[in-house]
Amino acid sequence: MSADAVVVGSGPNGLVAAVTLASAGRKVLLLEAAAEFGGALRSAELTLPGRVHDMGATVMAMALASPATRGLALDGVEFAHPPVVAAHPLDDGPAVLVHRDAGRTAEGLGRDAGVWRAVVGAAERAGFPLVDLLLKPLGPWELRPAAFAAAARFGVAAALPATTLARRAFRTRRGRALLAGMAAHSMLDLRAPLTAGYGLTLAVLAHLVGWPLVAGGSQRLADALVARLRELGGEAVAGHRVRGLRELDAPTVVLDVPPREFAALADQPGRHGELPRRYRERLLRFRHGPGVFKVDWALDGPVPWRDPGVAGAGTVHLGGTLEEIALSEAETAAGRHSPRPYVLLVQPYAADPGGRGGHTLWAYCHVPNGSRADLTGAIEAQIERYAPGFRDRVLARHVMGPAALEAANPNLAGGDIGGGLASLGQFLRRPVWSPAPWRTPLPGVFLCSASTPPGPGVHGMGGWQAARLALKG
Ligand SMILES: Cc1cc2nc3c(=O)[nH]c(=O)nc-3n(C[C@H](O)[C@H](O)[C@H](O)COP(=O)(O)OP(=O)(O)OC[C@H]3O[C@@H](n4cnc5c(N)ncnc54)[C@H](O)[C@@H]3O)c2cc1C
Repeated sequence: MSADAVVVGSGPNGLVAAVTLASAGRKVLLLEAAAEFGGALRSAELTLPGRVHDMGATVMAMALASPATRGLALDGVEFAHPPVVAAHPLDDGPAVLVHRDAGRTAEGLGRDAGVWRAVVGAAERAGFPLVDLLLKPLGPWELRPAAFAAAARFGVAAALPATTLARRAFRTRRGRALLAGMAAHSMLDLRAPLTAGYGLTLAVLAHLVGWPLVAGGSQRLADALVARLRELGGEAVAGHRVRGLRELDAPTVVLDVPPREFAALADQPGRHGELPRRYRERLLRFRHGPGVFKVDWALDGPVPWRDPGVAGAGTVHLGGTLEEIALSEAETAAGRHSPRPYVLLVQPYAADPGGRGGHTLWAYCHVPNGSRADLTGAIEAQIERYAPGFRDRVLARHVMGPAALEAANPNLAGGDIGGGLASLGQFLRRPVWSPAPWRTPLPGVFLCSASTPPGPGVHGMGGWQAARLALKG
């Protein structure tokens, strides 16, 4: 087919870009290097026959909240909510639980109930306009005047390092630990600015839309987007790795690739011309963040949590206190492996019993970019700490360190699942400082991956912004 637009890469951003362009009547060709579509949305039988594991993203809070995807009704996609959004077990007392309801969550925080209500609860009440502000940091926004106070309070808290907010605003070990577990999703040293913001944003989403997963596996969301593209007359081809822009003979090209790969593709320029030297240098200066070491398990039953309250949680943060989690993330940021790493664990069966062919589980910890270390033992020790007897439930395991992750998906460079370091500098320059960073100096060529604003997550915003710019011409 002779296409009006070629989209390279079928992660959530590439898929949303392709569907947005096709919805506007463009003839779209989507090219994917891997044998399956979806990028970090893929699911596969990683352990035992019939057991479905998400290779990447499971928690779909951003998909539900994003202006790019929240209105999409897709055949075969059902969002399943766990009874408890997230749990943070502690050594010396009951786990901290995050519920859909902000008030109920606050009740479990004792003397920190007030700060939770004032910052997180109020931001939740500001609703989707506030989420739009966060996911469209470059605007346009439609925040009602009534929400300004909540947004301002949220903004001041969000700009802080998580350690600062935790120590200044939270008074209990439970509240501080909860904030640290949320903020550590950022994969940054928790003494860095904005880390509080990453954690608070996830907390607001927990109350506003929940942290559901896709029943049957995230692959269904990718497959449904590919089906929508085909319904709209688009073509999607898997197993085709694009090696240079020269291959792509279409007026519009949208790249769901990281900055360095864009620079490499542009080394074989085509009809769109050559990259200016300074822009190319900026692409090459773009920094990837730490990697992850991920383990998937097939279990013969649920994880035997010491605190039964954790059983209903879709997501579990393991790592104990603020101090311990902050130390673990500081070690990773300094290029070292933490012996007691912060572990992010997802138990899909809590939301989707029977949907994955049995009890499946995944967890990862952060490691220096490109690390070759095997963290299986350290991760399992953290689970055993809160769930004695866990190892006895394991029927099979599958591990993916940074090299395996990158081999499965070149966007996960060195195991970086965030599309680039989420530091303040790269929040502002993603990958360059511009009011429209999705537009590149090459006419008709757009960048849409998680290396563009608003960054990582299954929200499709990079693809949506790139497609909107492409449609404007
Ligand atoms: C282990 C893990 C867990 C995660 N958990 C969550 C979660 O629970 N919730 C959440 O919101 N987010 C999560 N994320 C992050 C989220 O999945 C990513 O931010 C998101 O998928 C990024 O989307 P993308 O479209 O930019 O790129 P990707 O999803 O990485 O897709 C990029 C695609 O482009 C293809 N590609 C690259 N180069 C070429 C080329 N030259 N030719 C053809 N194809 C090419 C790749 O093969 C890949 O399929 C997780 C990620 C990982 C890896």
